[in-house]
Amino acid sequence: MRALRKTARSPGAALVEIPVPTPGEDEVLVRVHAASICGTDLHIYDWNEWAQGRIPAVPMTFGHEVAGHVEAVGSDVRHVQPGAFVAAETHIACGQCSTCRTGREHICERLKILGVDTDGAFAELVVLPAHNAWEVGAGIDPDVASIMEPFGNGVHAAFGTGGGEDIATNPVVVIGCGPIGLFAVGITRSLGAWKVIAIEPNAYRREMASAMGADLLIDPAAEDPVAAVHAATNGQGAEVVLEMSGNARAIDQGTRMLARGGRMSLLGLPEGAVSLDLNDQVIFKEARLQGITGREMFRTWQQTTTLLSTGRVDVSPVITHRFPLERFEEAFATTASGRSGKVILSPGLDG
Ligand SMILES: [Zn+2]
Ligand SMILES: [Zn+2]
Repeated sequence: MRALRKTARSPGAALVEIPVPTPGEDEVLVRVHAASICGTDLHIYDWNEWAQGRIPAVPMTFGHEVAGHVEAVGSDVRHVQPGAFVAAETHIACGQCSTCRTGREHICERLKILGVDTDGAFAELVVLPAHNAWEVGAGIDPDVASIMEPFGNGVHAAFGTGGGEDIATNPVVVIGCGPIGLFAVGITRSLGAWKVIAIEPNAYRREMASAMGADLLIDPAAEDPVAAVHAATNGQGAEVVLEMSGNARAIDQGTRMLARGGRMSLLGLPEGAVSLDLNDQVIFKEARLQGITGREMFRTWQQTTTLLSTGRVDVSPVITHRFPLERFEEAFATTASGRSGKVILSPGLDG
């Protein structure tokens, strides 16, 4: 089969021919219909400092946001059968550590990531633990199914650990409108936020945020976003801030635009330590700052399935490009350009 692999510890990737992998007894073999490109994949492709330290071994196949048909299952697999159309949860949990056994597999102490620690999905076929195969069901376009994983990041951030009861009727801010931020705009809109305020310096992405249902767009390069959020919320600030940018200055601003008693969920990864005014912006406001990673397994997948299959969130404005696997160089350049939403690679598309 063809697979897009890192063949050397250096920038780039190679489309090579490798044997079809055999699923183990608790694994499934999936024929890839669509695999979308994530920021993580771009880091691996560019071979930045993070990737150099994080990727354990090459050669390896990368790519993790994937949907496709189950082609074969191992002898212990019960919950999916060949022919099923599945999307992949990319957090591979051990199932045994105390974190896993108390229902938080997505932050497993021995967590592995598909396409980072294991061979991934930019290929014609991929092997997954059967536990990680989520049956997509009716109502979700097969091309859209590959974005269920990053969409789930947006869902998990929006609901937080409190169940998202603070979204409906309240002002919500989304900082950073890459694909997950754009999904979060649509999700919080559909959960009944009073106002969804999107903060994003890139005009192309602000336009997509508007298509996803943002009520107010703020360009933080042109105006003070803290003042703009207060002006739009009768001086109260935002009950919920979803931080998707990882930008240190934006994180600080996020705490300042947060209402008293509000909740800020942080998903964007800053490059280093971030300094915050904890006294006035967190402690005296009784603000709650919550880290968000991955998706709850599998509550988030149920929520994601409902939001997408009922059409409550239409992600079509965010899916901007599709390429066959052999045009991967163009696909990565498009992802890096700042003028794209989600870029999907499909092994079955004609070049
Ligand atoms: Zn990803
Ligand atoms: Zn574990």
